[in-house]
Amino acid sequence: MSDRIVTRFAPSPTGFLHIGGARTALFNWLYARRTGGTMLLRIEDTDRERSTEPAIEAILDGLRWLGLDWDGDVVFQYARAARHREAAESLLASGRAYRCFATPQELEEMRDTARREGRAPRYDGRWRDRDPAEAPAGVKPVIRLRARQEGETAVEDGVQGRVTWQNKDLDDLVLLRSDGNPTYMLAVVVDDHDMAITDVIRGDDHLTNAARQTQIYDAFGWSAPRFAHIPLIHGPDGAKLSKRHGALGIEAYRDLGYLPAALRNYLVRLGWSHGDQEIFSDEEMVAAFDLGSVGRSAARFDFAKLENLNGHYMRAASDEELVDRIEGLLPVLGPSRGLGTTFPAVVRARLLVAMPGLKERAKTLVDLLDSAYYLWAPGPLALDAKAASLVDDAARDRLAALRPRLDAVAWEPAAIEAAVRGFADEVGAKLGQVAQPLRASLTGRATSPGLFDVMVVLGRDESLARIDAQAGRPVIAASQPVA
Ligand code: GLU
Repeated sequence: MSDRIVTRFAPSPTGFLHIGGARTALFNWLYARRTGGTMLLRIEDTDRERSTEPAIEAILDGLRWLGLDWDGDVVFQYARAARHREAAESLLASGRAYRCFATPQELEEMRDTARREGRAPRYDGRWRDRDPAEAPAGVKPVIRLRARQEGETAVEDGVQGRVTWQNKDLDDLVLLRSDGNPTYMLAVVVDDHDMAITDVIRGDDHLTNAARQTQIYDAFGWSAPRFAHIPLIHGPDGAKLSKRHGALGIEAYRDLGYLPAALRNYLVRLGWSHGDQEIFSDEEMVAAFDLGSVGRSAARFDFAKLENLNGHYMRAASDEELVDRIEGLLPVLGPSRGLGTTFPAVVRARLLVAMPGLKERAKTLVDLLDSAYYLWAPGPLALDAKAASLVDDAARDRLAALRPRLDAVAWEPAAIEAAVRGFADEVGAKLGQVAQPLRASLTGRATSPGLFDVMVVLGRDESLARIDAQAGRPVIAASQPVA
């Protein structure tokens, strides 16, 4: 085995890239990058019925979106079926495998007997030493591993420590099906060997498979890679992760408005820790990651924590990046919000100016988009219930009286603020009694980024038109829909 680390991510394209798979990919990627090694990508598409092209695309897109690049070309497992067959034949030739002619009915009986006796179903080895000349007519054989029956199989796992199995508990597993197709167990071993994988890092649901695979490596006379089985991700209640608790495809996280950097940071902390550090740049993650600090118990998924991290990364992101990312979500989010799939230039310009204030409060890109609603909303602006309750008759009168002052003032935040404050003083109102209805009229919401900044972003004409619409005066400069 060479010194250079070679890891792999080996998803089955029977579904999209889910959050657990994404974390497995991230750990493989980090481990490879950390050691100056490589990470390969193998699509395990041997299950022809359940593997789909859209799932393959979703996995590749998901990895790209998450920023996890792989080395070399993608390996497709099914394309290697001839090699898997040849490998199984070589074990037949060396006596480490045999043809088994047990009929489906016999196998069914074995399972029934085991069930009745309260045992785990096992193949009883009936063709291990039987002469194939005795094969019943018309039964297509499978090829089974001639597994060792005495002693134990041990795996020195990078996360779980040393784990052992009694060989008497492991039956002779099928390597090649009667239709000539390899089983997962055979294909994984042959591929990992041929791809010179040094480290297999995957979910601990594969731990028992590591024992099976170790037996197959042994039969070939190949040395097994190092294994590291990482605990699965559970929901906040400790139960298996459900959809409601985050068991979603990675594209769902994109559409919910999370930044890939935030998700990377969140995922690295799911099951791995480095002192009490929570925020990691990619460089810091790569420098600090090690398998020894991966815990042995299941990690718990916590949306609130992901949101907080996302807020952090959004505040740190440039305004341009945020506008671009929101725009990237418009094909999904735009139509239900009266927007197209791209931002009109005027909205884009307003968004860029408003972004420093907007990103202070938002937790996701979707929040950000919704909080920017007032920037493109067509007139007259629809107020939400809270905002509408702020615009009563007294407020309308104040807005009408304030309007001429705003028409005359220099259009920049300090001057507007001075005018609003001066007006409130003069009419004996608190600042809030003027500012709140003003905010409601301009943004349709009861909360917003700094009011005077909002007014500058909207411009004088648009601001006055929105005030007019609420103050009940004839609308002088009706605002035009911009989206
Ligand atoms: N294809 C398997 C899966 O998606 C992973 C196999 C492996 O990592 O060895 O669960």
